[in-house]
Amino acid sequence: MTVLVVGSVALDSVETPFGKADDVLGGSGTFFSAAASLLTPVQLVGVVGDDYPVDKLQPLADRGVDLSGLERAEGPSFRWRGRYRHDLNSAETLETHLGVFSRFSPKIPEAFRSAPFVFLANIDPRLQLDVLKQVQRPKLVACDTMNFWIESRRPELMELLGHVDLITVNDGEARQLSEKANLVQAARWIMSHGPRHVIIKKGEHGAFMFTEDTIFFAPAYPLESVFDPTGAGDSFAGGFIGYLAKTGDLSEGNMRRAVIYGSAMGSFAVEKFSIERLLEVTREDLGSRIRDFRKLVAFEEELE
Ligand code: AMP
Repeated sequence: MTVLVVGSVALDSVETPFGKADDVLGGSGTFFSAAASLLTPVQLVGVVGDDYPVDKLQPLADRGVDLSGLERAEGPSFRWRGRYRHDLNSAETLETHLGVFSRFSPKIPEAFRSAPFVFLANIDPRLQLDVLKQVQRPKLVACDTMNFWIESRRPELMELLGHVDLITVNDGEARQLSEKANLVQAARWIMSHGPRHVIIKKGEHGAFMFTEDTIFFAPAYPLESVFDPTGAGDSFAGGFIGYLAKTGDLSEGNMRRAVIYGSAMGSFAVEKFSIERLLEVTREDLGSRIRDFRKLVAFEEELE
């Protein structure tokens, strides 16, 4: 089944302890599409400026990302500049320039409106709400957000929570949104405002999926070297939603499997800058990493 994603399509400039990249392909919509398209067809909605190297998006189209909902507008593209110090779990945002996103009003193409899976990737909650008004009863609507929007668009974000089935956030965002230090309490607070599922990502420490009466935990893949953490969260979401869309199964057991697919795609994303590694990964690579995850947590219970 198809996934419709709306999100940022950006030019990122990133500094990590291992190197620097300037004006490379980035954005929540871009990372999500690169990851999800390994599993299922993706329809991307967003906007780029007249300075965007759109030809570099061709590899996404080649993998089954429909770019016909990507608008090209006059003006500068969305640009994000970030830095990671030795704690690779948290990005320090140095600059955010919304560019053409500040005037963007998403128009969902007719052919995209019946997508059964919708992912509202990290972008202005006003745009996320706008998209929901244009789609027809998806099977699952999930969203993401970040500190930038929690600070500047809290009322719109709270409204959005009432319209989504699932939210993915990192631990810092969950605490900031709920104003609760304890993550279980933070997840309960978020669920009480709408979503039936809350996924809290903890970078190299794994991810939790909360429902009203269950908690599932998946480790992060223990990589020997993490090169650039940018996009790990969006790639997690791409693997997670991509797997749900591929299987069309929203049972608890399948959602748990999807969390492992999310963790696997997140682990690939951080091995190189930008979406470079995601574009190289094959289904066989993904399958082999999923098997590694199983080995990572398998143990025999000692019965008395
Ligand atoms: P993450 O998966 O959380 O590492 O997301 C990284 C991506 O988010 C980068 O490629 C940025 O271009 C994008 N990004 C950063 N800030 C924002 C923002 N305020 N709104 C939308 N996207 C953003």
